[in-house]
Amino acid sequence: MQKRNYLLPVMMLAIFETIAVTLWLTKNNIFYLFNFSYIGISISLGMFLFIREYKHARRVVQLLVGLYMLIYLGLICNENMQIEGFWYYLFTGVFEAATIHYAVAKIFGPLFFGRGWCGYACWTAMVLDFLPYKTPAQPRKKIGWIRYVTFAASFIFVAALFLAKVGNLERIMFWAFIIGNAAYYGVGIALAFAFKDNRAFCKYICPITVFLKPMSYYSVIRVTCDKDKCISCGKCKRVCPMNVDVTDNSRKRENGTECILCMECVRNCPKKAL
Ligand code: SF4
Ligand code: SF4
Ligand code: SF4
Repeated sequence: MQKRNYLLPVMMLAIFETIAVTLWLTKNNIFYLFNFSYIGISISLGMFLFIREYKHARRVVQLLVGLYMLIYLGLICNENMQIEGFWYYLFTGVFEAATIHYAVAKIFGPLFFGRGWCGYACWTAMVLDFLPYKTPAQPRKKIGWIRYVTFAASFIFVAALFLAKVGNLERIMFWAFIIGNAAYYGVGIALAFAFKDNRAFCKYICPITVFLKPMSYYSVIRVTCDKDKCISCGKCKRVCPMNVDVTDNSRKRENGTECILCMECVRNCPKKAL
Protein backbone atom coordinates (compact mmCIF):
# COMPACT_ATOMS: atom_id res chain seq x y z
CA MET A 1 0.00 0.00 0.00
CA GLN A 2 1.55 3.28 -1.10
CA LYS A 3 1.66 6.27 1.21
CA ARG A 4 0.11 8.66 -1.33
CA ASN A 5 -3.12 6.61 -1.27
CA TYR A 6 -3.94 8.14 2.11
CA LEU A 7 -3.89 11.71 0.84
CA LEU A 8 -7.65 11.80 0.16
CA PRO A 9 -8.77 10.87 3.73
CA VAL A 10 -6.28 13.36 5.13
CA MET A 11 -7.62 16.06 2.78
CA MET A 12 -11.20 15.21 3.73
CA LEU A 13 -10.35 15.48 7.43
CA ALA A 14 -8.62 18.83 6.80
CA ILE A 15 -11.72 20.17 4.97
CA PHE A 16 -14.04 19.15 7.80
CA GLU A 17 -11.68 20.51 10.45
CA THR A 18 -11.58 23.83 8.58
CA ILE A 19 -15.38 23.95 8.58
CA ALA A 20 -15.44 22.89 12.27
CA VAL A 21 -12.99 25.54 13.45
CA THR A 22 -14.45 28.29 11.26
CA LEU A 23 -17.99 27.71 12.52
CA TRP A 24 -16.81 27.29 16.12
CA LEU A 25 -15.06 30.65 16.05
CA THR A 26 -17.58 32.60 13.96
CA LYS A 27 -20.64 31.25 15.79
CA ASN A 28 -18.83 31.15 19.15
CA ASN A 29 -20.29 27.70 19.78
CA ILE A 30 -18.08 24.70 20.53
CA PHE A 31 -20.83 22.34 19.32
CA TYR A 32 -19.71 23.00 15.73
CA LEU A 33 -16.15 21.97 16.55
CA PHE A 34 -17.38 18.68 17.99
CA ASN A 35 -20.03 18.08 15.33
CA PHE A 36 -17.95 18.61 12.18
CA SER A 37 -14.84 17.00 13.72
CA TYR A 38 -16.86 13.86 14.49
CA ILE A 39 -18.31 13.72 10.97
CA GLY A 40 -14.92 14.44 9.37
CA ILE A 41 -13.20 11.71 11.43
CA SER A 42 -15.97 9.21 10.58
CA ILE A 43 -15.75 9.92 6.84
CA SER A 44 -11.95 9.87 6.81
CA LEU A 45 -11.96 6.59 8.73
CA GLY A 46 -14.31 5.13 6.11
CA MET A 47 -12.03 6.30 3.29
CA PHE A 48 -9.04 4.82 5.10
CA LEU A 49 -10.85 1.48 5.47
CA PHE A 50 -11.88 1.60 1.80
CA ILE A 51 -8.26 2.09 0.76
CA ARG A 52 -7.41 -0.91 2.96
CA GLU A 53 -10.06 -2.77 0.90
CA TYR A 54 -12.30 -3.41 3.88
CA LYS A 55 -15.60 -4.60 2.39
CA HIS A 56 -17.90 -2.80 4.80
CA ALA A 57 -16.09 0.55 4.89
CA ARG A 58 -19.07 2.52 3.59
CA ARG A 59 -21.47 0.86 6.02
CA VAL A 60 -19.19 1.78 8.95
CA VAL A 61 -19.39 5.48 8.00
CA GLN A 62 -23.12 5.25 7.34
CA LEU A 63 -23.72 3.84 10.83
CA LEU A 64 -21.32 6.23 12.59
CA VAL A 65 -22.78 9.36 10.97
CA GLY A 66 -26.39 8.20 10.51
CA LEU A 67 -26.85 7.05 14.11
CA TYR A 68 -25.18 10.21 15.43
CA MET A 69 -27.56 12.40 13.41
CA LEU A 70 -30.69 10.43 14.19
CA ILE A 71 -30.13 9.64 17.85
CA TYR A 72 -27.89 12.41 19.18
CA LEU A 73 -28.93 15.42 17.08
CA GLY A 74 -32.51 14.37 16.40
CA LEU A 75 -33.74 12.55 19.48
CA ILE A 76 -31.45 13.90 22.24
CA CYS A 77 -30.82 17.48 21.04
CA ASN A 78 -34.34 17.81 19.53
CA GLU A 79 -32.95 19.18 16.30
CA ASN A 80 -35.24 18.52 13.34
CA MET A 81 -32.73 17.65 10.63
CA GLN A 82 -35.35 16.66 8.08
CA ILE A 83 -36.45 19.00 5.31
CA GLU A 84 -39.26 20.40 7.50
CA GLY A 85 -36.59 21.46 10.01
CA PHE A 86 -34.72 23.22 7.23
CA TRP A 87 -37.83 25.20 6.21
CA TYR A 88 -38.58 25.93 9.86
CA TYR A 89 -35.17 27.43 10.61
CA LEU A 90 -35.18 29.25 7.29
CA PHE A 91 -38.50 30.92 8.15
CA THR A 92 -37.33 31.84 11.64
CA GLY A 93 -34.15 33.29 10.11
CA VAL A 94 -31.97 31.22 12.42
CA PHE A 95 -28.80 30.02 10.76
CA GLU A 96 -28.23 27.10 13.10
CA ALA A 97 -27.60 23.34 12.99
CA ALA A 98 -30.33 22.24 10.53
CA THR A 99 -29.75 25.12 8.08
CA ILE A 100 -25.97 24.68 8.25
CA HIS A 101 -26.41 20.93 7.84
CA TYR A 102 -28.45 21.46 4.67
CA ALA A 103 -26.07 24.05 3.28
CA VAL A 104 -23.03 21.80 3.83
CA ALA A 105 -24.41 18.31 3.14
CA LYS A 106 -27.22 18.85 0.69
CA ILE A 107 -27.00 22.16 -1.15
CA PHE A 108 -23.43 23.45 -1.62
CA GLY A 109 -21.40 20.39 -0.51
CA PRO A 110 -22.73 18.29 -3.44
CA LEU A 111 -20.92 20.67 -5.80
CA PHE A 112 -17.78 19.06 -4.40
CA PHE A 113 -18.73 15.58 -3.15
CA GLY A 114 -21.91 14.89 -5.14
CA ARG A 115 -24.39 12.69 -3.32
CA GLY A 116 -21.86 11.47 -0.79
CA TRP A 117 -24.49 12.28 1.83
CA CYS A 118 -26.76 9.59 0.34
CA GLY A 119 -24.04 6.97 0.28
CA TYR A 120 -22.37 7.62 3.62
CA ALA A 121 -24.51 9.57 6.06
CA CYS A 122 -28.26 9.44 5.52
CA TRP A 123 -30.01 7.67 8.39
CA THR A 124 -32.94 6.67 6.18
CA ALA A 125 -30.70 4.86 3.69
CA MET A 126 -28.69 3.48 6.62
CA VAL A 127 -31.69 1.28 7.40
CA LEU A 128 -32.80 0.69 3.79
CA ASP A 129 -29.34 -0.62 2.89
CA PHE A 130 -29.86 -3.54 5.32
CA LEU A 131 -32.72 -4.82 3.13
CA PRO A 132 -32.14 -7.69 0.67
CA TYR A 133 -32.38 -5.85 -2.70
CA LYS A 134 -28.95 -4.24 -2.94
CA THR A 135 -29.14 -4.07 -6.72
CA PRO A 136 -32.46 -3.26 -8.38
CA ALA A 137 -34.23 -6.35 -9.70
CA GLN A 138 -36.59 -4.40 -11.96
CA PRO A 139 -36.14 -1.60 -14.52
CA ARG A 140 -36.43 1.94 -13.23
CA LYS A 141 -39.94 3.38 -13.06
CA LYS A 142 -40.97 6.78 -14.40
CA ILE A 143 -42.43 8.07 -11.14
CA GLY A 144 -39.61 10.37 -10.03
CA TRP A 145 -42.09 13.28 -10.16
CA ILE A 146 -43.33 12.16 -6.72
CA ARG A 147 -40.26 13.81 -5.15
CA TYR A 148 -41.61 17.24 -6.20
CA VAL A 149 -44.93 16.49 -4.51
CA THR A 150 -43.25 15.51 -1.22
CA PHE A 151 -40.93 18.52 -1.50
CA ALA A 152 -43.90 20.89 -1.98
CA ALA A 153 -45.88 19.16 0.79
CA SER A 154 -43.04 19.65 3.30
CA PHE A 155 -42.81 23.34 2.42
CA ILE A 156 -46.57 23.89 2.57
CA PHE A 157 -46.79 22.08 5.93
CA VAL A 158 -44.24 24.38 7.60
CA ALA A 159 -45.48 27.53 5.82
CA ALA A 160 -49.03 26.77 7.01
CA LEU A 161 -47.82 26.48 10.63
CA PHE A 162 -46.28 29.94 10.38
CA LEU A 163 -49.21 31.52 8.54
CA ALA A 164 -51.66 30.11 11.09
CA LYS A 165 -49.38 31.42 13.87
CA VAL A 166 -49.48 28.05 15.61
CA GLY A 167 -47.86 28.12 19.06
CA ASN A 168 -45.20 25.85 20.52
CA LEU A 169 -43.63 25.31 17.10
CA GLU A 170 -40.46 23.78 18.53
CA ARG A 171 -42.42 20.92 20.05
CA ILE A 172 -44.38 20.44 16.82
CA MET A 173 -41.12 20.28 14.85
CA PHE A 174 -39.77 17.64 17.24
CA TRP A 175 -42.84 15.48 16.69
CA ALA A 176 -42.71 16.19 12.96
CA PHE A 177 -39.20 14.75 13.05
CA ILE A 178 -40.36 11.56 14.82
CA ILE A 179 -43.44 11.05 12.66
CA GLY A 180 -41.62 12.05 9.46
CA ASN A 181 -38.85 9.55 10.12
CA ALA A 182 -41.31 6.79 10.94
CA ALA A 183 -43.15 7.55 7.67
CA TYR A 184 -39.89 7.55 5.68
CA TYR A 185 -38.89 4.18 7.13
CA GLY A 186 -42.36 2.71 6.61
CA VAL A 187 -42.71 3.90 3.00
CA GLY A 188 -39.05 3.18 2.22
CA ILE A 189 -39.21 -0.42 3.45
CA ALA A 190 -42.58 -1.08 1.76
CA LEU A 191 -41.32 0.31 -1.57
CA ALA A 192 -38.07 -1.66 -1.34
CA PHE A 193 -40.03 -4.90 -1.13
CA ALA A 194 -42.66 -3.84 -3.69
CA PHE A 195 -40.06 -2.81 -6.30
CA LYS A 196 -37.34 -5.25 -5.16
CA ASP A 197 -35.01 -2.28 -4.83
CA ASN A 198 -33.54 -1.03 -1.53
CA ARG A 199 -33.13 2.47 -2.93
CA ALA A 200 -36.63 2.88 -4.41
CA PHE A 201 -37.45 5.56 -1.82
CA CYS A 202 -34.35 7.53 -2.82
CA LYS A 203 -35.20 7.27 -6.52
CA TYR A 204 -38.85 8.27 -6.41
CA ILE A 205 -39.96 9.79 -3.11
CA CYS A 206 -37.21 11.59 -1.20
CA PRO A 207 -37.81 15.38 -1.30
CA ILE A 208 -34.17 16.18 -0.58
CA THR A 209 -33.20 14.96 -4.03
CA VAL A 210 -34.75 18.17 -5.38
CA PHE A 211 -31.62 19.86 -3.97
CA LEU A 212 -29.22 16.97 -4.38
CA LYS A 213 -29.75 16.10 -8.03
CA PRO A 214 -29.08 19.46 -9.71
CA MET A 215 -26.16 20.31 -7.39
CA SER A 216 -24.47 16.93 -7.79
CA TYR A 217 -24.60 17.36 -11.58
CA TYR A 218 -21.56 19.63 -11.17
CA SER A 219 -19.79 17.47 -8.59
CA VAL A 220 -16.00 17.63 -8.58
CA ILE A 221 -15.76 14.09 -7.19
CA ARG A 222 -17.25 11.54 -9.60
CA VAL A 223 -16.47 8.07 -10.85
CA THR A 224 -15.08 8.05 -14.39
CA CYS A 225 -14.20 5.28 -16.79
CA ASP A 226 -10.84 4.62 -18.45
CA LYS A 227 -12.06 3.66 -21.91
CA ASP A 228 -8.72 2.06 -22.78
CA LYS A 229 -9.13 -0.49 -20.01
CA CYS A 230 -12.92 -1.04 -20.23
CA ILE A 231 -14.03 -4.23 -22.01
CA SER A 232 -17.75 -3.27 -21.94
CA CYS A 233 -18.69 -6.27 -19.78
CA GLY A 234 -21.51 -4.28 -18.14
CA LYS A 235 -20.76 -5.48 -14.61
CA CYS A 236 -20.55 -1.94 -13.22
CA LYS A 237 -24.10 -1.18 -14.32
CA ARG A 238 -25.41 -4.48 -12.98
CA VAL A 239 -24.03 -3.87 -9.47
CA CYS A 240 -24.99 -0.18 -9.32
CA PRO A 241 -27.84 0.39 -6.83
CA MET A 242 -28.81 3.61 -8.64
CA ASN A 243 -28.79 2.45 -12.30
CA VAL A 244 -25.99 4.84 -13.30
CA ASP A 245 -24.30 4.32 -16.66
CA VAL A 246 -20.85 4.91 -15.23
CA THR A 247 -19.02 3.97 -18.45
CA ASP A 248 -20.28 7.21 -20.02
CA ASN A 249 -17.95 9.96 -18.81
CA SER A 250 -20.20 12.86 -19.80
CA ARG A 251 -22.14 14.75 -17.13
CA LYS A 252 -25.34 13.85 -18.98
CA ARG A 253 -24.84 10.12 -18.48
CA GLU A 254 -27.91 8.05 -17.69
CA ASN A 255 -28.94 8.65 -14.04
CA GLY A 256 -25.69 10.54 -13.48
CA THR A 257 -27.19 12.70 -10.70
CA GLU A 258 -28.22 9.54 -8.85
CA CYS A 259 -24.67 8.38 -8.10
CA ILE A 260 -24.20 7.99 -4.34
CA LEU A 261 -20.45 7.30 -4.63
CA CYS A 262 -20.89 3.87 -3.04
CA MET A 263 -17.96 2.55 -5.14
CA GLU A 264 -19.63 -0.81 -5.81
CA CYS A 265 -18.84 -0.35 -9.52
CA VAL A 266 -15.19 0.39 -8.74
CA ARG A 267 -14.90 -2.64 -6.46
CA ASN A 268 -16.47 -4.96 -9.03
CA CYS A 269 -14.84 -3.81 -12.26
CA PRO A 270 -12.68 -6.75 -13.42
CA LYS A 271 -10.33 -4.43 -15.36
CA LYS A 272 -9.94 -1.69 -12.74
CA ALA A 273 -11.19 0.72 -15.37
CA LEU A 274 -13.13 2.92 -12.91
S1 SF4 B 1 -32.11 10.16 -1.52
FE1 SF4 B 1 -32.95 10.91 0.41
S2 SF4 B 1 -33.40 9.07 1.62
FE2 SF4 B 1 -32.04 8.47 -0.05
S3 SF4 B 1 -30.03 8.59 0.83
FE3 SF4 B 1 -30.39 10.54 -0.17
S4 SF4 B 1 -31.22 11.88 1.42
FE4 SF4 B 1 -31.37 9.77 2.17
S1 SF4 C 1 -17.15 -3.26 -15.12
FE1 SF4 C 1 -15.28 -2.24 -15.81
S2 SF4 C 1 -14.75 -3.29 -17.68
FE2 SF4 C 1 -16.86 -3.84 -17.27
S3 SF4 C 1 -18.09 -2.30 -18.39
FE3 SF4 C 1 -17.77 -1.50 -16.35
S4 SF4 C 1 -15.94 -0.21 -16.49
FE4 SF4 C 1 -15.98 -1.54 -18.28
S1 SF4 D 1 -22.11 1.77 -8.18
FE1 SF4 D 1 -20.78 3.39 -8.96
S2 SF4 D 1 -22.05 4.61 -10.34
FE2 SF4 D 1 -23.41 3.38 -9.07
S3 SF4 D 1 -23.92 4.69 -7.36
FE3 SF4 D 1 -22.20 3.45 -6.72
S4 SF4 D 1 -20.40 4.72 -7.22
FE4 SF4 D 1 -22.14 5.57 -8.33
